[in-house]
Amino acid sequence: MIKEVPLVDTGKKRNEKYQWYKYVSKNLYKRHKFKMHSLLNHGTTDFFNAVEIETTTFCNRRCPYCPNALFDRGLKENEKRMPEELFQSIINQLSDLRYIGRVSLHFYGEPTSDERLPDFVAYARKKLPKSEILIASNGDYLSPEYFEKLRKAGISRINLTTHWPNKTMTPKIKALRTYLRENPQSEVQVIYNELTPEDDLENRGGIFKTKKFVPRKSCHAPAETMNIDYQGNWVLCCNDYHSSIKWGNLEKEKIMDIWTKPRFARLRKREKEGKFDLKICQGCTNKVQLDL
Ligand code: SF4
Ligand code: SF4
Repeated sequence: MIKEVPLVDTGKKRNEKYQWYKYVSKNLYKRHKFKMHSLLNHGTTDFFNAVEIETTTFCNRRCPYCPNALFDRGLKENEKRMPEELFQSIINQLSDLRYIGRVSLHFYGEPTSDERLPDFVAYARKKLPKSEILIASNGDYLSPEYFEKLRKAGISRINLTTHWPNKTMTPKIKALRTYLRENPQSEVQVIYNELTPEDDLENRGGIFKTKKFVPRKSCHAPAETMNIDYQGNWVLCCNDYHSSIKWGNLEKEKIMDIWTKPRFARLRKREKEGKFDLKICQGCTNKVQLDL
């Protein structure tokens, strides 16, 4: 089982039962808060509460459980970056909608490989002051100096992962841990976990074979998260590696015009009821052992 822990132990005594209670109540509160906010601002509780934006397609790693290991989309020579104007216009639209949910600046690229990231974070922070802004990173580019730039820009959380074949914390992450121990800070939550091919993982919408197929009972992903690729396409979900299902494009269309398209609204409703019409969804499972 994948266990996420703070990178630096704050020394606070942990009570597992209390932690569990705190996690559930915090998430219930958040869900309730988003629903109330959507109702007041958009007249409906049917509204996403997370946004994932692909700022770069490049990742320096080829983890065997990631589609980047099978396709050339993540290679440096094929790198595509989201234009700054497009990024800003998406954030501006969210700001106009008084959006308060999570903003994640990643898809299948390594966000810290892009030197523009601190500027993107700062822009999002300025326009979306109430949002949690985060990245998921392999930590390979995350020096203490880069961390400081992100902290000053207003990032809320960094999820770091040591990927197989590294069996223990990478030197870069270790160096960051040392830095954070010597320079305690409370603004940025830094979370750490380790992944190996033995862990239960997602099959990425059927891209990977699994040892056992466990169909999903329902899916809330399209109803809760707006996933935008580097071209501004609003794609199905974080498992749609190839942007195979596009609901619209934010270079040409407004968020609400895409969100209210009848075909999209129907799919969100049906997936929440466990009815899967798309092939990619029919082959999708999560938290299973992949057959690598
Ligand atoms: S570091 Fe992350 S994005 Fe890069 S190949 Fe590994 S799992 Fe994929
Ligand atoms: S069921 Fe479909 S929408 Fe849900 S996570 Fe899988 S591929 Fe994405």
